[in-house]
Amino acid sequence: MDGPLWLLLDADDTLWENNIFFEEAIEDFIAFVDHAELRPDEVRHELDCVETRNIEVNGYGTGNFTNNLVECYELLRGRSADDDERECLHALTLRIRNHPIRLFPAVEETLDDLRARHRLGLVSKGDNAEQRSKLERSGLGGRFEFIVIVREKNADCYRSIISEIGVDAEHAWMIGNSPKSDIVPALEAGLGAVLVPNENTWRLEVRPLPETHDRFRVVREFADLAAVF
Ligand SMILES: [Mg+2]
Repeated sequence: MDGPLWLLLDADDTLWENNIFFEEAIEDFIAFVDHAELRPDEVRHELDCVETRNIEVNGYGTGNFTNNLVECYELLRGRSADDDERECLHALTLRIRNHPIRLFPAVEETLDDLRARHRLGLVSKGDNAEQRSKLERSGLGGRFEFIVIVREKNADCYRSIISEIGVDAEHAWMIGNSPKSDIVPALEAGLGAVLVPNENTWRLEVRPLPETHDRFRVVREFADLAAVF
């Protein structure tokens, strides 16, 4: 492709592992609930409902996730959690906050290859301090000319980002693992979009993908981006 382009990259589950830590915490939560009548998938469904409802009001991030676990627990028990239970629920999310950053294969080399020809930005959603801390721990921060942490990735968010950078939509691409956050709204705003599939993508981020679109691509893995751009 003709360059230089602005390539905007997602972070969680595109550059590094993220959702697997939440999934582990959710498994532990379901075991902790140990519900007498509901099956594990039904408990998970209740949690998904609590999360979907609260994300609109409170946003993402581990702090909100922890509160969602407590809320779901109380809903399922039909009473308030006591101090011990609350402490156990908080402990379930500690590994999400403390795990070392695990980059996907070839991320560093591929970013270096891309930034030799193009301009790179990082567009992540979630809690600002938490996302910046992960970026810091990843050691990748210096590879991006533009870093923004947003509350939600929608078409307006992408429009305002490219206007802030001063690039037109034809010269901007969004790259990420989430159909809901990285692909659908970026295409709606006129950017190109590349899906880097991740089988551990959070189920609330899954959406139908465009069947045909001249600015939508799917790669097999992160390193393949070097051949696309
Ligand atoms: Mg992601």
